[in-house]
Amino acid sequence: MTSPTPADDQQPWDEPVDERFSPSPVDAVVFDLGNVLIRWDPFAAVVAGVGAAEATAFFAAEDFDFGAWNYQQDAGRGWEEAETEASRTHPHWGPALRAYREHFPRSLIGVFEDTVTVLRELHEAGVPLFALTNWSEELFPEALRRFDFLELFEDIVVSGEEGVAKPDPEIFRVLEERMRHRGSLEDTVFIDDNPRNVEAATAAGMDAILFTDTGHLREDLRARGLPLRRA
Ligand SMILES: [Mg+2]
Repeated sequence: MTSPTPADDQQPWDEPVDERFSPSPVDAVVFDLGNVLIRWDPFAAVVAGVGAAEATAFFAAEDFDFGAWNYQQDAGRGWEEAETEASRTHPHWGPALRAYREHFPRSLIGVFEDTVTVLRELHEAGVPLFALTNWSEELFPEALRRFDFLELFEDIVVSGEEGVAKPDPEIFRVLEERMRHRGSLEDTVFIDDNPRNVEAATAAGMDAILFTDTGHLREDLRARGLPLRRA
């Protein structure tokens, strides 16, 4: 079939957009929670238990990696077991490491207002919303109590409940299963502040955005055709 010759007065930009080259429609948006929507600082919890000097020493310690230890609880280990074991191997850090769970609510130091606004706009526009968070099963209820915007998510995949955490590829398979009725990971946008998680999400087929708190999220999402107001 030959294309009709355009009329002399027709400009190229008057022609209908070729669907094959349009951006894929977005089936859903998936948010990380910690340091994308919820400000988290474990120092604030530990300092409440042992004071600033001890907390500073604890987080700077060469013989104890808080992040790696905490990650195990995100991946499903119970806190009682974690504290008992770590207090046995590192008795000098016992009070500090136990202070974290005891004063956990203090580690949730606020919210990212701009991200919450974006979340609410997407919800109002009817975009399916999911969360995928590395969070211990025992401590996640505190987030549900504190942050009403978590109700805007159709579903929240909590690593501690699944026994596997980002960036393990397995957690993205869990997510895929939980949101299958909305579409595929390929047509899903994912937002996370951790480059390793962004890398893993990309490997899982998602369109992943690194969140940097520099005000780009809204534009990054608008560029993907999501219905958000201009900044
Ligand atoms: Mg995060």
